[in-house]
Amino acid sequence: MQRPEVLIVGAGPAGLTAGIYAARSGHRTLILEKGLPGGQVTFTPEVENYPGFAEPVAAMELAQAMEEQARRHGCEIETIEAIRLRTGDGEIELETSGPTLRPRGLIIASGAQPRELGIKGERELRGRGVSYCAVCDGPLFRGKEVAVVGGGDSALDEALYLAGLCSRVYVIHRRDEFRAAMMTQERVRRTENIRLVLSSVVTAITGTEKLDSIEVTDRKDGSKTVLSVSGLFIYVGSAPNTGWCQGVVDTDEAGFVRTDSLLRTNVPGVFAAGDVRATPLRQIATAVGDGALAAMTCHRYLTERP
Ligand code: NAP
Repeated sequence: MQRPEVLIVGAGPAGLTAGIYAARSGHRTLILEKGLPGGQVTFTPEVENYPGFAEPVAAMELAQAMEEQARRHGCEIETIEAIRLRTGDGEIELETSGPTLRPRGLIIASGAQPRELGIKGERELRGRGVSYCAVCDGPLFRGKEVAVVGGGDSALDEALYLAGLCSRVYVIHRRDEFRAAMMTQERVRRTENIRLVLSSVVTAITGTEKLDSIEVTDRKDGSKTVLSVSGLFIYVGSAPNTGWCQGVVDTDEAGFVRTDSLLRTNVPGVFAAGDVRATPLRQIATAVGDGALAAMTCHRYLTERP
């Protein structure tokens, strides 16, 4: 592996787009990815709000096309995990699960991962009824009753997907109002086998070998209900994948990387793009826009420092 000029951590839509733009600008570009290219896109079945596709596009297909496009433009993509970022004296050094890399520019596009509810039973029963990915695990619950927690786009999109497989889907949300897109909310309300459980939170997850039931507490009157569900799908937002660069780049209180409007971090030569960034909107379209801008800002930085 030659020394990359531009190193990108993360091969989701932001990282792959940054790769396309950096490689097309003539830089030797390497993208590191610890899992599968595509990032969180691959957790969802279909995408219907990414421009260019009049009909919903299979998320996996979209991710694979982005990966192929990046490779066609000359990006290398390696299955390597970023471990620790070090900077100083104008140098960038990344310790990885493979070689230690010293690029001239670095783009942080390591995305985010599902946040946990943080209640007892959640970790113990993960993979045995508790899940964060309906596309991955939904088919295991065909014909069964499941619950989804959350009121954002992820929760409602995945509830609709699960409603096509499961006999009943409870959507448990801590408020009376959802924050998901209105069109999605309307589809959820029209779906017969989705039952809304509003102003309520999950207070216990029980089961030994596998999930047996959940306890739901009504926040208005404090009453408790036990729902016998085989699956619990948790969609309560995300946490940034920044363990490897923590303490080196500035982040907000939740750990998302702060940037200026050109996507520069506080460290010269280090940029950030996509869901990992402190940003008001996390969409494939915004990640792609970020990737292009971060790569071009990085390109300008490198050409000004031959
Ligand atoms: P999100 O928009 O942050 O929503 C998280 C949901 O979880 C909120 O409804 C929140 O409730 C709830 N929540 C948070 N902590 C909780 C807790 N401890 N207990 C119970 N509920 C809790 O996250 P997201 O749905 O994953 O979406 C992330 C971003 O991706 C958003 O910008 C979203 O629009 C985007 N996205 C878009 C699409 C699409 O366009 N089709 C699909 C997926 C994601 P409150 O509402 O009360 O805060």
